[in-house]
Amino acid sequence: MSAAHQDLIDPFGRVIEDLRISVTDRCNFRCTYCMPEEGMQFLDRSKVMSFEEIEHLARIFVERYGVKGIRLTGGEPTVRAQLPVLVTKLAALENEHGHVDLAMTTNGATMRLVADGLREAGLKRVNISLDTLDRAKFHEMTRRDQLDNVLDGIEAAKEAGFDRVKINAVIERGVNDDEIVDLATYGREQNVEVRFIEFMPLDATGHWMNDTVVGQDEIVAKINEVYPIEVMPARGAAPADRFRYLDGDGTSAGSMIGVIPTVTKPFCGDCDRVRLTAEGDFRTCLFATKEFGLLAALRAGETDDQLAARIEAAVATKWAGHQINQVNFTRPTKSMSQIGG
Ligand code: SAM
Ligand code: SF4
Repeated sequence: MSAAHQDLIDPFGRVIEDLRISVTDRCNFRCTYCMPEEGMQFLDRSKVMSFEEIEHLARIFVERYGVKGIRLTGGEPTVRAQLPVLVTKLAALENEHGHVDLAMTTNGATMRLVADGLREAGLKRVNISLDTLDRAKFHEMTRRDQLDNVLDGIEAAKEAGFDRVKINAVIERGVNDDEIVDLATYGREQNVEVRFIEFMPLDATGHWMNDTVVGQDEIVAKINEVYPIEVMPARGAAPADRFRYLDGDGTSAGSMIGVIPTVTKPFCGDCDRVRLTAEGDFRTCLFATKEFGLLAALRAGETDDQLAARIEAAVATKWAGHQINQVNFTRPTKSMSQIGG
């Protein structure tokens, strides 16, 4: 176990405790709210962090700064070869809070093949994306005819015994907002927590507009009409507001839902997250327009003290919050799969 850590605190007093690491910008899907159908430019493999480089940087965050949670994301993390090797390395990291809480966000298409290996390697939790239960719409939204694989992937994740399996559903007006209640029903029946995510202006094609967002209030109202729900106690730094069904036990996964209201009710004041892109650039916000090249510094031979100084300088620039609802909002030049959602 490492010595006592130093808190990584931003100018607004928020303590950084959660690191999102993108392990690849590549993906086997082409979701319309994320990537274009064709022409996405992917990073040359030599530019992507190796497992050793990811471990090196993650160790600084965990051991020096007491980061409690790491979430692997992408692109699609499961397309990265030998992912369990990385999971084993990261799962071993610990600080005085204990072992790092290691999670992954995935589209679930290959979960049946990889779930057991990832669980055995030490992955604790998975979030699987599922925006529709309709096969044709799934094909339209992801540009892949793989609904059955994802549903089976969710089953495989449950069977593998992860601590928690959650479903992420991005809701886009005119696309899948007619399925909000169906997705809630699915969560209740399958005993998984569905987290509804407001559509964010991070789509590569740039079709996001304010009126394409289905806000938290509307999502909650639609569900409440069919399954009455009530809000659960405050979420702390977690991005989702949580609600429980009045007819449920309030503790099982299927008895609650989450809503991530990034656009209509920004939760920036409680944000404890930072991110590393697949090419090792450090970002202090999903919507940040500035990045700090940690991998470049590591490859240039900088010491851990020098890397830590870069991390602290970057965190000192973390802004109070994104400006999505302001006229001066500037979209990041990178889209969701390039940042690591
Ligand atoms: N490929 C994996 C997946 O889809 O779960 C992990 C990466 S993906 C970028 C992470 C999450 O971001 C997914 O739940 C996805 O649905 C969500 N996402 C992608 N583009 C989004 C957007 N424009 N607005 C809101 N959420 C988005
Ligand atoms: Fe791939 Fe995930 Fe983006 Fe869909 S949301 S294109 S699965 S990275």
